[in-house]
This record gives sequence, structure tokens and C-alpha cells, in this order.
Amino acid sequence: STPLKGKVALVTGGGRGIGAAIATRLAEDGADVAITYERSRDRAEKTVAEIEGLGRRGVAIKADSADAGAVTAAVDRAAAELGRLDILVNNAGVFLIGPVDELTVEAIDRTLAVHVRAVLVATGAAVRHMGEGGRIVSIGSNLAERAPWPGLSLYSASKSALTGLTRGLARDLGPRGITANVVQPGPTHTDMNPSDGPHSARQLEHVALGGYSDAADVAATVAHLAGPGGRRLTGATITIDGGFNA
Ligand code: NDP
Repeated sequence: STPLKGKVALVTGGGRGIGAAIATRLAEDGADVAITYERSRDRAEKTVAEIEGLGRRGVAIKADSADAGAVTAAVDRAAAELGRLDILVNNAGVFLIGPVDELTVEAIDRTLAVHVRAVLVATGAAVRHMGEGGRIVSIGSNLAERAPWPGLSLYSASKSALTGLTRGLARDLGPRGITANVVQPGPTHTDMNPSDGPHSARQLEHVALGGYSDAADVAATVAHLAGPGGRRLTGATITIDGGFNA
């Protein structure tokens, strides 16, 4: 079935990892999909080829999420090239960790710019193109609610900002029929967090279901929010972490 037929989505950081899984899943569900990338042009082009292979239109746009002007331009270009905009997925992310007395101001600024400022800027730009039925989904982290190890103050702060931000968006956008939600993955096999990486063993100890999630598992939750089943779901934070935080 193609519940998103006729819809247009933009996924930030959609060239690889969780973002790529979301982009291809939304295309499977019928949407035309624009993605942004910063450095991984080849990966972005490959994801666009997958979207086109599914019979949808795809476009890759180079835009550094830390650059507010580039974010706004990417949103406007996605809407212009694909004719409309219905779904924004704020996915681009970085994982800069360290004890608080070793964090650089550059790391703090970059994390907050990509995880928080870009989400506000992209959402503001996107909703100017959206009508009734629009959807905003931001990718947070289960580490917004738990910091099980040292070194997470910056990352956890940036991801927990999304839950408050999203409750505010629900109030701003509800009267226009646009929903806003956060999806919080737990350990998910990507370049950022490979399931056989140096930090995987200690994460696995916490996962109630055992093992890592696939990026496609996270994409399934995003697809639900983006589709007709998400019609009355707004201001919510959904954790999909295999029970890590249970
Ligand atoms: P990856 O490192 O595998 O991919 C990161 C993606 O974000 C890439 O597409 C990258 O694009 C993009 N990106 C990073 N910085 C920027 C930037 N400044 N501007 C534009 N795009 C950027 O990470 P994941 O797929 O694992 O993570 C995706 C999201 O999920 C992130 O928000 C992350 O915090 C979150 N998450 C991941 C978990 C996991 O276990 N994997 C757990 C919980 C949350 P490019 O290569 O072009 O720079």
C-alpha cells in the first residue's frame, strides 16, 4: 500500500544511516523524497537512486545543518523541486561526547546548532509550505532520558531539548492541522554506532529485547507518524530502544 502517495518529504541527513532508512521507507510508502547531506555526497546520490528505483522522485541537496541559511534554502528548494512539502524529518546528527570539563566550545556550538537550532529553523521554513495534514518528526535519542555513562552531558542536553521544543511546536501548529513528534532511537546499527563497535557491549547489556535495532525499525515508527495512523498523534515522544530505558 502507498499511504503517502502524492506527498513530499524532506529528510535531513538522509544519505546514510537512520536518515537513509527513513527516506527509502517514506518512498516505499509512496512519497517523493528530498534529502540533505553535508559531506557524504556519494551516499546521498545512492539513496536518491534507491528512491528513484522505487518509482518516486528523489533529490539530494547539500546543506550543512549548522548553517541556518543553508537549512532554510534546502527546505525551500525541496518544496520548489518536488512541488510541495508535507513531511519534514529532522534527522541529521552528530555524536560529540566527553566529560564536561573537556568539552570544547566548538563541540557545544556544533551540537546545539545541528540538533536544536537547525530543527527550529527547518521547521519554521517547512511549515510555510505545509497545509493541513503536515508532519514534523525529529529524531532524538533514548539518551535524552537516561545518561547511563559519563561523557553524555552535551549530547543528552541537545536531544532532551527536542522534547520541549516539540511540545511547543504541537501548540503552535495544532490549529493548522500539522503534527510534531519526537522519535527517540536506542542503539541502532549505523556508522555512528556500529553493532560491533568499541562501545556496543556495554549498550547491549541494557537492551531488554537484546541486540541492536536496524535503521529500518526506526523508519517504521517515523512512517507511522507520517502516515494516516499519525493523524491524532502530536506533542509526543516515542522511544524505540528495544527496552533500553525500561
Ligand atoms: P550517522 O552518523 O550514521 O549519520 C549521520 C547523518 O547526519 C548523515 O547523513 C550525515 O550526513 C548527517 N549530518 C551530520 N552532520 C550534519 C550536518 N552538519 N549537516 C547535514 N547533515 C549532517 O548517524 P545515525 O544515522 O546513527 O544517526 C541519525 C540520527 O539518529 C542522529 O540524530 C542521531 O543522533 C540519532 N540517534 C542515533 C542512534 C544510533 O544508535 N545510531 C541512537 C539514538 C539517536 P553527511 O555524512 O553528509 O555529513
